[in-house]
Amino acid sequence: MSFKILSAEFSHETNTFNIHPTTLANFSDRLLLDGKQAIAELGSKNTELAGLLEVGAQYNWQIEHCFSAAAGPGGKVTKHAFEEILTPLTKRLSEQWDGVFLILHGAMVTDFCDDGEGEILRRVRAALGPDIPIAVTLDPHANVTVAMCQLAQIIVSHNTYPHIDMRETGQRAAHILQRTLLKEITPHTLRAHRPMLEEINGGRTDIGPMIERHALAREYEQQADIYAVSINGAFASADISEIGPTVLICCTGDIPAHQHKAEGLADDIWQKRDQILNRYYSCAQVADIASQWRSTTEEGPLVIADYADNPGAGAYGDGTTLLKALLDNNIENACFGPIVDPQAVAELQNYPLGAQVNISLGGKTEPKMGGGPLQVDAHILWQGSGLLMGTGPIIGGLKKDHGDTVVLKIQDIEVLVVSISHQMLDLSQFETFGIDPKAKSVVALKSMQHFRAAFEPIAAKVIVCDSGALCTVDYKVLDYQKVPRPIFPLDLD
Ligand SMILES: [Zn+2]
Repeated sequence: MSFKILSAEFSHETNTFNIHPTTLANFSDRLLLDGKQAIAELGSKNTELAGLLEVGAQYNWQIEHCFSAAAGPGGKVTKHAFEEILTPLTKRLSEQWDGVFLILHGAMVTDFCDDGEGEILRRVRAALGPDIPIAVTLDPHANVTVAMCQLAQIIVSHNTYPHIDMRETGQRAAHILQRTLLKEITPHTLRAHRPMLEEINGGRTDIGPMIERHALAREYEQQADIYAVSINGAFASADISEIGPTVLICCTGDIPAHQHKAEGLADDIWQKRDQILNRYYSCAQVADIASQWRSTTEEGPLVIADYADNPGAGAYGDGTTLLKALLDNNIENACFGPIVDPQAVAELQNYPLGAQVNISLGGKTEPKMGGGPLQVDAHILWQGSGLLMGTGPIIGGLKKDHGDTVVLKIQDIEVLVVSISHQMLDLSQFETFGIDPKAKSVVALKSMQHFRAAFEPIAAKVIVCDSGALCTVDYKVLDYQKVPRPIFPLDLD
């Protein structure tokens, strides 16, 4: 028997504090492919789609993949973009399908609806009727709503942060879908939630309490009627009512017993809310550490991560406070990236390679969040297309595009200036543009946690800084209106 499966990928992590709406152009900049193109580009890489295709082939499914769409984390998704992207999927729902497979993020907010994934699932479910199974994969930085769990029978999130198990996540969800299609099981997904903006370590799985939680989750999955346990650290930069960490159990059988397990894991997230593992230095402290830093090439660089200006969580990536602190302290043999400043890049196109320029760099979006424009004297080291091919554990073999890109040398710091924002998560994002992070004494980058997958192995030491940009951990500076109160850590009492 060959099942007919309709699939699509529609992914966005929406930072509702980001003033720029996420438009169709932002999806085109990042990922907007029809089904055939998506399979060609992503179908054999470390992606959920690859996992789906692999397992689908094993079960002889006929898979119709409609599209893959993702934009860089940013402001609310416009209704126009949402409808344009989703329509090729909804149009096909009137055909006969045995199941639907959706690759989602789980933290999409649109300008007309706070629960983007809930809205996608509502439309799909309305067309399919109550019985046809829907399987969903999520990023563990999902804010999973009650509606999502009511609308999709199967929900499975990645188990790693840095996320390196995308393909495996697709495989796991597809295996559960196959058993459902065979009517061997009739799963649904239970949800336990706690009133927090996010799991206190942002869901880190490389150290800390998440390691034990995931070990327990894998143990629960050994039980015959538990198919997947997902632990979502949530996404804090969203002013929505259903925010916060969730534990999901996709299961059948003894529901109260399974719910009890989910609540137990959620309790652990709540009880360990004070066990903060990152130490967030100020930019001045970081510059001080960097000025005393001496490393040999064999040891590797000091890696400084600007947690708050992480474009991977919807910050603008144009903050300058950290760069200014490093320049003020004359840090030597360093690199820094990226500064997202399409305006500066466009201006720099007027100069030849090697030119000396004086330019206003970064800080143009919201100077109060992470620093305003820096007027700098610089030397153009590199300029050209920002297209690159990843080499590391997260985006190995996958294309990324920074748009028009320039490398500036400012004092003794090589600064990557890009037009399209991505967080720094792969060495190729420096190396493609002539910067060798391994040969630097200090490497400063914008990322919260994903950078660790590629940069920890080359680093002598890693420190994290909060530059006060949009993803600051000082949540009190953000204007939360819709999150239910009290909530941790806004209301500590
Ligand atoms: Zn994530």
